[in-house]
Amino acid sequence: MSRRGCLFCGAPLRVTFVDLGMSPLCESYVSRDRLNSMEPFYPLHTFVCERCLLVQLDEYISPEEIFSDYAYFSSYSDSWVRHMKDYTDMIVGRLGLGPQSFVLEIASNDGYLLQHFVAAGIPVLGIEPAANIAKVAVAKGIPTLVEFFGEKLALRLKAEGKQADLIAGANILAQVPDVNDFVSGIKILLKPGGVVTIEFPHLLNLIRENQFDTIYHEHFSYFSFLTAERIFAAHGITLFDVEEVPTHGGSLRIFGAHAGDAARPVGPRVMELKTRERAMGLDRLEGYTAFPERVQATKRKLLEFLIRAKGEGRSIAGYGAPGKGNTLLNYCGIRTDFLDYTVDRNPYKQGKFLPGTHIPIFPPERIDETKPDYLLILPWNFKDEIMGQMSRIRSWGGQFVVPIPEVKVYP
Ligand SMILES: [Zn+2]
Repeated sequence: MSRRGCLFCGAPLRVTFVDLGMSPLCESYVSRDRLNSMEPFYPLHTFVCERCLLVQLDEYISPEEIFSDYAYFSSYSDSWVRHMKDYTDMIVGRLGLGPQSFVLEIASNDGYLLQHFVAAGIPVLGIEPAANIAKVAVAKGIPTLVEFFGEKLALRLKAEGKQADLIAGANILAQVPDVNDFVSGIKILLKPGGVVTIEFPHLLNLIRENQFDTIYHEHFSYFSFLTAERIFAAHGITLFDVEEVPTHGGSLRIFGAHAGDAARPVGPRVMELKTRERAMGLDRLEGYTAFPERVQATKRKLLEFLIRAKGEGRSIAGYGAPGKGNTLLNYCGIRTDFLDYTVDRNPYKQGKFLPGTHIPIFPPERIDETKPDYLLILPWNFKDEIMGQMSRIRSWGGQFVVPIPEVKVYP
């Protein structure tokens, strides 16, 4: 039983989606001088609402605690930057955006997206609650407000005449503690005839591909299209189109407009996706309850591989230090007994240690120095990119290992 009701509809939360035990905050990397200090662990227990089927985490910590000094810089992944450039070209053409338009991005991070609009001469405003990251965006010439987005901020911006032709948000919906306040804010700030696009990891893929490691404290809720449609509709926004995009192991990009906007009729992709979600059981509780056993099987297979490899005297290093890696390693109990170290291209993380497991993080060059037999790719959503960048490990017989949807070795 959860301590509070459903984030969207308020119904009591009684049905477990998956319980991953106790875990530290995924992005709270540990510095060397803190290694011998107490480290807080919080329950990582998700529920599915019996009434609206929103999958969600119980509330254990305040969003301010999580996001005020967030380590994630979007620009550090090549394929992510490219993905957002493609998005910019598509949406500027589709909506006919130009110097007369106004684009607003919620959770604009280091300006990885808005920089493309700025380059095209389109006025923008970013909203980013993490001050250290917003500073990077401002230095790049991208106007950015250091605030949490919601109804209150939306009303203030609207009073200043700042309604938007396009409101964009990629990887923010899951991190919103109050989804009603968030969507209500979008409704307020969207110009008549405007469009909102939001990207979020698709719950259908999370279930089908065993992506339980994408569950962490920073992600309060996990959406199917059916649930997202219900939530936006409750606030007067109709989802008129949807695209399936490959980011984060399979995400949805939803397109919303004011309900009743005759220029934006609901397209065929919406109906097709809803049919597929119903076929997978996402419109009823039974579609959710088999997940825990599949998560446990994935854990057993990964541990069996690691135990065998270590028994054979092989060395294993990690690649990447993403949030999802921390859920995986903590849930599976994988520490330096299995992984000697991990590497990350982000200098902010180098020299630090993974939360909970205290696995050290080095720059990628460390791999060439130690020549591990196996390289466990923690950000499996970038596995093709990483296997390309690191293909030289094959010169010493090194092999790639991907843990999700189930452990697989790539010789
Ligand atoms: Zn609910």
